[in-house]
Parts: sequence; C-alpha cells; structure tokens
Amino acid sequence: MKVDILAIAAHPDDVEQTCGGTLIKMAEKGYRTGVLDLTAGDMGTRGTPDERVAEAGEAAKIMRVSHRENLHFPDARLENTISARMTLAVKIRETRPRVVILPYWQGRHPDHYRAAELGYEACFLAGLKKLDEYSEPHRPYKVLYSSIYANVTPSFVVDISGQFDRRMAALLSYRSQYGGDSEGGDLFPEEQEIRERLGAVARFYGNLVGVRYGEPFVVKETMLIEDVVAMGARSI
Ligand SMILES: [Zn+2]
Repeated sequence: MKVDILAIAAHPDDVEQTCGGTLIKMAEKGYRTGVLDLTAGDMGTRGTPDERVAEAGEAAKIMRVSHRENLHFPDARLENTISARMTLAVKIRETRPRVVILPYWQGRHPDHYRAAELGYEACFLAGLKKLDEYSEPHRPYKVLYSSIYANVTPSFVVDISGQFDRRMAALLSYRSQYGGDSEGGDLFPEEQEIRERLGAVARFYGNLVGVRYGEPFVVKETMLIEDVVAMGARSI
C-alpha cells in the first residue's frame, strides 16, 4: 500500500472539500494517492460512523484513490497524544509517501488545526530509525498545507478545472451529510448550495492564477523553481 501522495484529514469528506481535485489530478498523472481520515465523524449530527466510512470508500473510488483508511480517533476532541502520533507515524512508514497534504494549521474547528500539528509531528517521528523495530523509517519529503478555508495567500494553486466535477461527485457521495431528507435538516446546506459555494471558492483560487478552478496550498519553506521560462500564472 505504498503511495506517492498521502492526504491526512480530520474527518471523512474533508479531503473532498479541500484537496480532492489535486488528488484526482495526480492519480490521472499516474501517481498512487492515499487518504488517512483520522476520525469517523462520531459526533456529527447526521449519519453514523459506519455510514460515513462506507461513503468515504465510495468517494475514494470516484477520486481514484489507491488507499484510504480511517483511524477512528475521537471526533470533535482529537488530541495530539503520544499514542495518536505513534499510530499515525507507523501508517506513514507503511505508506511511504513522498508528499503529505495536511489541513492548514489555523482554523475554526479544533480537529483541523490539531490534525495539522499531529500530522506534522507524525511525519517527523516516522523518520526515526528507532521508533519501532517492525517498520522501516520513512520521512516524507514535502508537506503541503491545504489552505482553502484559511484566509491566507497561498504559496501555489493547483489547476483543477478538469477535476472539479469529479471532486464534486465524490463529495456528494456522502449522502448522510448532504442528502436533503435526513435529521438535522436545517443545519446542512442542500446540494445546490454546496455546488455554488464550492464552485465560488474554487473559482476564486483559480482566478488568482488565471484558470477556471483551483485548489490553494501553503508550504512553509521557499519554493524551488527549475525553469523560470515555463512558470505559469501571468504577471501582467
Ligand atoms: Zn472537517
């Protein structure tokens, strides 16, 4: 179950809203992609954890994800404990991604920023030889923070114009969350509202780089560019 890119997210359906287009695009390029959902949404108003994990499996197929797993950490009270870091570090050693995508490190929902911290520290731990004797050390080369819901200037934007519809289809496979007829009806926007909202957000980030739909990311280190002639996004 080795992958090239691993997205780590707090809840099932986070990835579909934040970096799913990028995962689809990378799978189309022939890379193996993976998703680790840290919780199964057991505190959510709608649906059961089993339903959400099953829906996540359907969404994974739509996004052409090679490996998706749920770690069943406690939802809405995710903690960066030693045992959570160790569990995640072992998963990183098993999947051996070159690139890890984490949520942005600030946000409204505590699970999201905690997932960012937990994910980063697990990536570090995963590279330590003596962490455990059963798995080989592996440290991801690149950590990308998905900043779609953070009001910050992205380091770069991925053009997902060709992947936007498929990403939307993946999100809508979470029928327990986005169907119109289950309990808690007023709390969740209906399908049309979701399409408009996600479309507007993706158009905003696409517009920053001159494409139709985009997904933004932040990296903490400076970007290295090999060929300045081939750079995208018009200056003037
Ligand atoms: Zn979430």
